Amino acid sequence: TAEQCELLLKCSVNVFQSLSDGMWLRCGCAASLRVLASPLRVLGLRRCNTAAFMPESAGFGGVSGRSGLQEFSVSSSESFWAAVARHRLSWIRPFTAVQDCDLSRGRIRWFEGGKLNVSVNCLDRHVHTCPDRVALMWERDEKGSEVRYTYRELLEMTCRVGNLLRRHGVKKGDCVTIYMPTCPLAVASMLACARIGAAHNVVFAGFSAEALAERIRDAQSSTVITVNQGIRGGKILELKKTVDTAVQSCPTVQQVFVAMRTDSPVAMTARDIAMEEEMLKEDVVCEPAAMNSEDTLFLLYTSGSTGKPKGLVHTQAGYLLYAALTHRYVFNYHDGDVFGCVADIGWITGHSYGVYGPLANGGTTVLFESTPIYPDPGRYWDMVERLQINQFYGAPTAIRLLLKFGDEWVNKYDRSSLKTLGSVGEPINTEAWEWYYRVVGEERCPVVDTWWQTETGGICIAPRPSDSDAEIVPGMAMRPFFGIKPALMDTEGKVISGNDASGALCLAQPWPGMARTIHNDHQRFMETYCQPYPGYFFTGDGAYRSVEGYYQITGRLDDVINVSGHRIGTAEIEDAVNQCPAVAESAVIGYSHDIKGQGVFAFVVLKKNVDVEEADLSRQLNGIVSEKIAKYACPDFIQFVQRLPKTRSGKIMRRVLRKVVELDLDSLGDLSTLDDPAAVQEIIQGHRELL
Ligand code: ATP
Ligand code: MG
Repeated sequence: TAEQCELLLKCSVNVFQSLSDGMWLRCGCAASLRVLASPLRVLGLRRCNTAAFMPESAGFGGVSGRSGLQEFSVSSSESFWAAVARHRLSWIRPFTAVQDCDLSRGRIRWFEGGKLNVSVNCLDRHVHTCPDRVALMWERDEKGSEVRYTYRELLEMTCRVGNLLRRHGVKKGDCVTIYMPTCPLAVASMLACARIGAAHNVVFAGFSAEALAERIRDAQSSTVITVNQGIRGGKILELKKTVDTAVQSCPTVQQVFVAMRTDSPVAMTARDIAMEEEMLKEDVVCEPAAMNSEDTLFLLYTSGSTGKPKGLVHTQAGYLLYAALTHRYVFNYHDGDVFGCVADIGWITGHSYGVYGPLANGGTTVLFESTPIYPDPGRYWDMVERLQINQFYGAPTAIRLLLKFGDEWVNKYDRSSLKTLGSVGEPINTEAWEWYYRVVGEERCPVVDTWWQTETGGICIAPRPSDSDAEIVPGMAMRPFFGIKPALMDTEGKVISGNDASGALCLAQPWPGMARTIHNDHQRFMETYCQPYPGYFFTGDGAYRSVEGYYQITGRLDDVINVSGHRIGTAEIEDAVNQCPAVAESAVIGYSHDIKGQGVFAFVVLKKNVDVEEADLSRQLNGIVSEKIAKYACPDFIQFVQRLPKTRSGKIMRRVLRKVVELDLDSLGDLSTLDDPAAVQEIIQGHRELL
């Protein structure tokens, strides 16, 4: 009403807070627009057409048009984040300073003076308003046996785990390692840590005993939570046995909680505690700890595509706020939607968009325990139909895999519930993007290619379909999120100002979701992220900014090759190679070449049942690359392989391929994150034959 609008006029920050809620925008009447016009001016916001004030587009995007609010969030970063933090989080004590950051010193602090509890923000406040809303839909490995948990049930489970951990001596500031499949008890364990003030360290339950032990030791955990066995793609994983082996070389570990995922009993030692049995003895109420904004929420080790995994540290308020806001606006998530992120909780995507973002927003989130091809390549779409998923968020590696099996696996299922499709983890090649958009989304659902990292805590560059007039260019990550200011650097370390330019991608100002340090190694944090371009956060990736100012990620900078003076991202060549109808996927690397400086070496995986002569295929591939890029980018060598070496999160490990081509087999580096070591042996063998 006009009366309420008058109230808003009193303080610009209040106006801003209300706008973020969408509350005011719902009225959409001429009177409210008139009254709102002046505070919008005060805030430097641009008012766009009336349609943008309608309920569907209510929120930041609607208010700002395409760039107004983004500009405001960067130029008045403190006002922006202060308003959003007050509005979106429940505080035990309000913060006194919005930020205290100095990127050049690697000092990053947000919302100091404030106290809050992350589990209260993710659970209790929703239990007060909607206790019976479904919080988790657990898509178990066994198709068709999903289990739903309401907010009330998840809170109870979390409290029991919290009390159990407390009873066994876990204190504020301790770090608990969680080695479990994606399941409700794993989520409750993460939230229970948050409830009692312990940090968690989730280790992907596909890692070997050695890789697990290294992470437990680095995190100095005294407590581990695991399950008797995992089950993935119908195969049993002996997780408890892996933990038994790992803890032998981890003197800090005093206790291991063992939950039962399958019916098979496992041998228990004096250190082991039967988790469900003990949980039953606990109360369903657990006093939440009052945490400082900058206390550690979790450690998470990166997937290790480039080298030794880094234990990145994320803290309470800033991380949660950023995960919640990006979840809401990048995916256009609305109350009542079912959010289907298929990433494992062992990765940052599982943390931010499987757990924290959706739960902070009171959403319904899917926990996917299986694989994209179990029991058949229709698994994702069967699940979409059964659970009525509205936003689907997956990785290019899975899209490329499914594309190989053909459209019929998708078309068998009703996907009319889908509204937004997301991609993360690697550049998505054109063919995969088109297929995702055309076949999976029936040309109805915007595809959001989201660029971010474990280090950034949440999505930094992505299209925002919540903007009513937002254009999306295939294969481009498009626009920075609120509060994100990208900068491209040239080879001399200077900022590139114009458009239609490529450079090293940096972020020019701090944002609340960014990692604070590397656990036990602030020096490495400084060297990796802060020192390469003083005053900027260096991402390690390259990007291109188009004439229109949109961003496209060109891949990791160490994957850029220089052929006869032409710098080119391996992703670009792979994109062209993958457009050949016979090719399923490829990995391109540079190798040292006497004349050209670097030559191009392509490893190529063919689609199933392709029957073409290799020589013919090589000619075809060269033709495509010359046409799409240039002759100089054509591979000097092509090796056809059965599969590529990938990290356990599905990313191609090009550094291993480089070593193979350099015949430097003694220094393949840290292989603990490699999914299947046999793939490397196969490639080495094939490479010898090729030579
Ligand atoms: P490590 O840092 O240990 O080598 P990692 O970089 O694979 O491992 P993550 O933090 O899981 O660990 O991945 C982030 C990286 O993934 C980004 O830096 C980028 O290279 C790539 N990436 C993520 N999303 C996208 C995307 N949408 N487009 C292109 N690349 C992406
Ligand atoms: Mg990285």
